[in-house]
Amino acid sequence: MRNVRFVLSVDTEEEWDWDGPFPNKVISVDNVGHLPEFHDRINEQGLRGSYFLDYAVLENDESRQILENLYNRYQDVEFGAHLHPWVTPPVVPVNAEADSHIVNLPIEVVSAQLESLTARLRDLTGQQPTAFRSGRWGINDAILKVLADQGYSVDSSIYPFYENDWFSCTRYDSWPMAMSYLKTEPELIELPVTAGFNHRPFDQAQRLHKRLERPAWAHFHVIGILWKLGLHRKIYLSPELSSARDMIALCQQVLDQGCPVIHMYLHSSSLLPGSTRYVRSDTDKHRLMERIDQVVAFLRSECDLKPVTISEAAWQLRDEGVLKEHD
Ligand SMILES: [Zn+2]
Repeated sequence: MRNVRFVLSVDTEEEWDWDGPFPNKVISVDNVGHLPEFHDRINEQGLRGSYFLDYAVLENDESRQILENLYNRYQDVEFGAHLHPWVTPPVVPVNAEADSHIVNLPIEVVSAQLESLTARLRDLTGQQPTAFRSGRWGINDAILKVLADQGYSVDSSIYPFYENDWFSCTRYDSWPMAMSYLKTEPELIELPVTAGFNHRPFDQAQRLHKRLERPAWAHFHVIGILWKLGLHRKIYLSPELSSARDMIALCQQVLDQGCPVIHMYLHSSSLLPGSTRYVRSDTDKHRLMERIDQVVAFLRSECDLKPVTISEAAWQLRDEGVLKEHD
């Protein structure tokens, strides 16, 4: 059976009602209390945890202590950096949604925020963090260079097949990439989360999706109809967003493509029922955990699954020469 790396990454951050204002006034990180139980459970399954920590969970004494205990108890977890610009000093006022995306901020501000976040992480682990993910996704060359300057070598901010008013990831799939064109030292590796469709090729599926989003088609809700019929589904490998069945369909496509890594992700706030729209009750949380189990069971039946942390995955795949060159 073929070797496939499996990465499980968790954005570890304050609770946040995504429909409400940015949580930069009243910050609650109670959800972090549920992280050890989550980690125990994935550890029992032989999985590894990669946690992208934001400034809010590092600043709060209680959650910081929980994270420190977790790090000391499980030597094999990875702590990366997760930059929420609305809580990281020097904090910038977030007046509009645009301000919440680091791609829209002056590079000096992003650089200064990354410094303060990195220092906090280094204090906690005694190590230089190597993996990064932006808050709400999105990255550009200038920020990637800042990451390399500050000692990072793995980025996971590209959200494949997604775009908004400020950045577009629609030309990317989930295949890990060497960002050699940036000529950074250390060389940056992009390891996006797994996303795609229930049919291939993905670039064709993406073109279809884009066409159907145009007003003429959107009016007839064609995307919704095709979804119900199971003919065309855009799927993200997150137990918050997708059913086990859809994630398995996606994994099947990605494995058939020959992709050497599967990367699942979620938010720590989903571990505290009621704090996000994804997980409103204990039943929802139970279902979320079952979805992870079902996808992992499927993957183990299809390939020789190697659970690793995100930086390990990136470096091993680089050493095996299977990264795509970013063009
Ligand atoms: Zn976040």
